[in-house]
Amino acid sequence: MKILVKAPAKINLSLDVLHKRNDGYHEVEMVMTTIDLADHIELSDIRDNEIQIVSQNRFVPDDGRNLAYQAAQLLKDRYHIQKGVSIAIDKVIPVAAGLAGGSSDAAATLRGLNQLWGLGLSVDELADLGAEIGSDVSFCVYGGTAIARGRGEKITHLQAPPNCWVILAKPSIGVSTAEVYRNLDLNHVDHPDIQAMIAAIERQNFQQICNVAGNVLENVTLKSYPQVKHIKDQMKRFGADLVLMSGSGPTVFGLVQHDSRLQRIYNGLRGFCDQVFAVRMLGERERFLY
Ligand code: ATP
Repeated sequence: MKILVKAPAKINLSLDVLHKRNDGYHEVEMVMTTIDLADHIELSDIRDNEIQIVSQNRFVPDDGRNLAYQAAQLLKDRYHIQKGVSIAIDKVIPVAAGLAGGSSDAAATLRGLNQLWGLGLSVDELADLGAEIGSDVSFCVYGGTAIARGRGEKITHLQAPPNCWVILAKPSIGVSTAEVYRNLDLNHVDHPDIQAMIAAIERQNFQQICNVAGNVLENVTLKSYPQVKHIKDQMKRFGADLVLMSGSGPTVFGLVQHDSRLQRIYNGLRGFCDQVFAVRMLGERERFLY
């Protein structure tokens, strides 16, 4: 049997880091939303009792370092499953880009194997398992729009933001999340107003969302990678309503509501940036769950 699952990327409308915890993780507060840029995963039964990763993308590990592999291994161990699976990942989301591609692959694998192996787990149970794999995996299990607290695994659902276009531009560098956190000096940051973001989403006020969005990691990445600043400046110049880095970067996203401006920004960025995407937000959970 075969199951196809979609693994959509996320962007951070707000990302705040509160403090470093005794267990080494950072306590965060983030507003995240899924977007219509997705990897496609095909899960198939295989005869041998093993996990196989198949991907054409040379940056995607094909062993236990792959988060989708870890998701399958976790389910096999926890529920004593003596079956093998092939996980074919058609990679669309740029790797190491701040878009949670690996985490979303893991979440989609949890959802898909729940079906393929008839485990009957609830979405909440899958999200709890996801937290054991990585901080963003729980959010990716649910998708939609949510506040993520703790180290990212405590999820409170929000309604979808007003409909808009998301333009993504990724410079040809990969950024290590761990390194960005190491370089973060919490004594010198402007914390974004998360409550104001929640209120803006509740009121469906697009302009207010753009006004209060912020990412505490942005300046850290901008310092090391001037090309990210260049993309930000260009996106603003071409007329995006909001321009912000996602996660630890280096992907920059722009939000825009008017179709006419979308084309101008997209074409302008294509001139000097090789990975540019224009997609819709997938702010509603139900749009891609199962
Ligand atoms: P994070 O912000 O959580 O670090 P990201 O979106 O910036 O995530 P990913 O695309 O998830 O970055 O990749 C980060 C690293 O994870 C890659 O360098 C890669 O070696 C590893 N990785 C593990 N599993 C996957 C996967 N399924 N797809 C892509 N990368 C993966």
